[in-house]
Amino acid sequence: MIQATQTSNLTCTRSTAATFSALKCKECGAEYEPKAVHVCEFCFGPLEVLYDYSALSRTVTRESIQAGPKSIWRYRSFLPVATDTPIDVGTGMTPLLQANRLARRLGLKRLFIKNDAVNMPTLSFKDRVVSVALTRARELGFTTVSCASTGNLANSTAAIAAYAGLECCVFIPADLEAGKVLGTLVYSPTVIAVQGNYDQVNRLCSEVANTYGWGFVNINLRPYYSEGSKTLGYEVAEQLGWQLPDHIVAPLASGSLFTKIYKGFQEFIKVGLVDDKTVRFSGAQAEGCSPIAQAFRENRDFITPVKPSTIAKSIAIGNPADGVYALDIARKTNGNIEAVTDSEIIDGIKLLAETEGIFTETAGGTTIAVLKKLIEAGKIDPDETTVAYITGNGLKTQEAVQGYIGEPLTIEPKLDNFERAWERAQTLDRLEWQQVLV
Ligand SMILES: *Cc1c(COP(=O)(O)O)cnc(C)c1O
Repeated sequence: MIQATQTSNLTCTRSTAATFSALKCKECGAEYEPKAVHVCEFCFGPLEVLYDYSALSRTVTRESIQAGPKSIWRYRSFLPVATDTPIDVGTGMTPLLQANRLARRLGLKRLFIKNDAVNMPTLSFKDRVVSVALTRARELGFTTVSCASTGNLANSTAAIAAYAGLECCVFIPADLEAGKVLGTLVYSPTVIAVQGNYDQVNRLCSEVANTYGWGFVNINLRPYYSEGSKTLGYEVAEQLGWQLPDHIVAPLASGSLFTKIYKGFQEFIKVGLVDDKTVRFSGAQAEGCSPIAQAFRENRDFITPVKPSTIAKSIAIGNPADGVYALDIARKTNGNIEAVTDSEIIDGIKLLAETEGIFTETAGGTTIAVLKKLIEAGKIDPDETTVAYITGNGLKTQEAVQGYIGEPLTIEPKLDNFERAWERAQTLDRLEWQQVLV
């Protein structure tokens, strides 16, 4: 067996800045040194970072956060790194857009879009988790980083590893969208395309992680990686003027993002940065891969794994690691978990684009379609201040909408031709036009 390339914790962390001291099992509470471990030796439960919240409430204020960088690192005290110089590629502080036109279309009074379709550097929320995981990987002495990805994670890991000068080898299912594959290859990592679905890729990676001693951002570094998603909670609270919304809707793959937005809100309440309040948490899945929505619907507290079949590949995880925790949060906050069909997902992508000028990928289409479905079912009240999390960019999943969005009217470079084309465009309303041209 190859030895882990991990050096002693003490030599690489300047612990003056660390606000965390241990990892703790979410199930049995056993504590571990904050190294590259992710499952409990006793009960196999997942490990989570433990912070000193009383110290945080003494030292962190709204002002101290606002004085920080315009990136996720303004919340560094709540993140599991010790260094004062994290890998900062401008990740985070993405726009929180008040979506009036979409709100009116759907019948809500106050709707916001948290737009991670324009996150840096690779246009998805995964840049948050990877910035944190690679900063911690460097602290722990790893020189090679890796991941098991549904697409966006490979883009992020490859890009940020390139910036940080880390060796990188990523694993993806072989049938990913062209934009996701190209958007990884361009950074020149080693890309392994596995003939199988994400769950099979993930199983293979667990074996590789044990043998090669690499830092797998979502396996042996998962406790650190997953904390990066909390910044999606912090930013929304800060951008709403240090207030929590009434209801959030977010996509679910492993369920990690969803549970960490919740943790982010809870921490801000705990240290006194926002007032206490129950935010309702609703989750979105694609029907072709909806193990968490199925368990919610059937009132089960366990997840039955499924074999994914959907265009929403970035959230196609059939055996979601944090599924039961996501279920619990949706239930205890009086939220919902819903699933939508692939054609509803395409409509969701188009609806967001037409009303708000945001081109999201299939995961964002899933979120918008579920938002619509919940409103129509009376499960989101028109008066609730609602935030929908858009987690990825549509330019990466172009094949999903190809054939559903019409075509340009191609003309010769003459005024006559333009006039005829314009007339034709006027006589057809948008829908008919699309039918003619598709
Ligand atoms: C990975 C991903 C998610 C969900 O991630 P989990 O934390 O595994 O639930 C959502 N949206 C996009 C675009 C993603 O790439």
